[in-house]
Amino acid sequence: MELLVDLHTHTIASGHAYSTITENAQAASRRGLKLLGMTDHGPSMPGAPHLFHFDNLSIIPDELYGVRILPGVEANITNHQGDLDMPLKYLEYLKLILVGLHPICYPGGTCEQNTQAYIKAMKNPYTDMMVHPGRPDFEMDLEKIAHASAFLNIPVEVNNSSLSTIRDKDGARDNCRSIARYMAKYKSPVILGSDAHFWDRVGEFSDALDLVHEVGISEQQILNTSPDRVLNYLATRRKNRSDISILSHHYGLNIA
Ligand SMILES: [Zn+2]
Ligand SMILES: [Zn+2]
Repeated sequence: MELLVDLHTHTIASGHAYSTITENAQAASRRGLKLLGMTDHGPSMPGAPHLFHFDNLSIIPDELYGVRILPGVEANITNHQGDLDMPLKYLEYLKLILVGLHPICYPGGTCEQNTQAYIKAMKNPYTDMMVHPGRPDFEMDLEKIAHASAFLNIPVEVNNSSLSTIRDKDGARDNCRSIARYMAKYKSPVILGSDAHFWDRVGEFSDALDLVHEVGISEQQILNTSPDRVLNYLATRRKNRSDISILSHHYGLNIA
């Protein structure tokens, strides 16, 4: 499987990541990637960039070292209603909006509250993709999330960093395997993300790929194989935002 896209990477702007966009793009180019998401953390994460960072992203060239750059954000869910920490103005023009749960940015809750928060964020018409559902910080009903992903056609990430040995001791690997099995079962759309916080991890998917093969997620489910498929998905998502908003309300009656 040829993986040409990494949509989840951080730069020095995130506060706890250590490479520039230039270094990340060079690394992506060396790995043969064609599309790179620049998704620094949303502003409620300690050390994350001020909103001014997002205001000025348009100065970054569309392409660096032969790699197309998508300036975006990894927004934080901030409460049980699934609200995000990015004002609407930014959600309107950023080219890639990843959404996830992070300690400090989210108060925690019961399994049901966490699951609801995550699924409500999936129904947000500005959300493009959901990240690292397997991280063990907040217990969730992973089958419900995989089902909602398939039903709403919102890709959910298999996060390579969650599968690293450092996080494994927290039970992340078991969680990741569990949701990956459900994503295979429901044929949910899948994105592999490096979640790189240093340039040498950009485009690193080996642990995620092993898991995908182990649980039988098909190549057709994985968006990373085609930059055009990712770009078409993002363009359609933006075109349909007003419709999705209405439909999400309707889906709210059926899901979760
Ligand atoms: Zn981070
Ligand atoms: Zn994250």
